[in-house]
Amino acid sequence: MKKAYTSTLVVAFVLLCTIVLYQASVRNPRLALAQTAGDLRDAPNPINGDAKEVLQSLKDDGSAANVPAVPEPVEVQSPAGSVRVSVGSGLNVYFVNVFQGDAEYIELPNGKNVLIDAGPAPSEHSQYKTPMISNFLTKHGVTKIDHLVLTHPHADHYGGMKWVFENLQVDNFYDTRVDNSDADGDNLVREQAKKEPGCVVHYPAEGDTLDWAEGVKIKVLNSCPNRDKSSMHKPDTGAFLNNCSIVLKISRQNSSALFMGDSQGEVETRLEQTYGKGLKSDILKVGHHGSEYSSSELFLKKVKPKEAYIEVGKYNDYGHPTQGALSRLKAAGAEIHRTDKDGTEEVPLEGKSR
Ligand SMILES: [Zn+2]
Repeated sequence: MKKAYTSTLVVAFVLLCTIVLYQASVRNPRLALAQTAGDLRDAPNPINGDAKEVLQSLKDDGSAANVPAVPEPVEVQSPAGSVRVSVGSGLNVYFVNVFQGDAEYIELPNGKNVLIDAGPAPSEHSQYKTPMISNFLTKHGVTKIDHLVLTHPHADHYGGMKWVFENLQVDNFYDTRVDNSDADGDNLVREQAKKEPGCVVHYPAEGDTLDWAEGVKIKVLNSCPNRDKSSMHKPDTGAFLNNCSIVLKISRQNSSALFMGDSQGEVETRLEQTYGKGLKSDILKVGHHGSEYSSSELFLKKVKPKEAYIEVGKYNDYGHPTQGALSRLKAAGAEIHRTDKDGTEEVPLEGKSR
């Protein structure tokens, strides 16, 4: 009798545990997914502010919060200025105002397009329910990204990609092999890329040339295609990830643009020593949002940018752009544009010969 009673208790306890675990996994499918994949890190998992933003964009049931299945066209309400629509069939670059983060949209002459980074996810307190990049892409009627580049896995660069993968067709995804150990969001984007039907994932290496359009030369000047890149920084530091940024130089006829991602002085010195005058570019996407540790004098002397674009939010905790970087850019003769002041800007590369 006592044995039967004990057995009943054991069965009831097991049942109760099963129900509790099931409910937990329903409430948090990421947990269930991570457990299945065997990649759940030891709790407590360190979550930085950026990763929190990504996590906050998930509802309790794991579905995307406030992300409409079919995005409504929304007028971009940037702090200053509004989007100018690109017309013509040339090579056009848009430095998209995504607040504090990076996103550059490029129209290629063959009708294909490129998105370098996608800015941050909307923050919890933002009036915007979808990432800033969604407004821009929706307004431009973009339904497909031919080439999506994640320069490096920081949330101000990948946060908007969740929306991109959920709402648009992505054909090619360019990535590094470095992890942001403080965030889960980068893995989420990478999982999305793997699951995206027809999407090819690439790990470009320095020296590679990307064949995106006839008559347009795209050269990779920096990246981390392997995990064992030696660096003065430990792999976990923000600077290490920044210095793994995929750096691209895009040239057409006599015009060129250099996209530095968040790379800092260490990369600039190497590029300046390796490529010298070959760095010369009309347009510079300034490294690391105008941080003090980027846009060094010697580097700018080689690039000689006519115009410098800083992707930066009005409100950021880093003091970006710094006075030092602004002064060095000005001293180098560059006209400075800032997304926090000028909004999104369209720059046709054609005819910008110098
Ligand atoms: Zn950044």
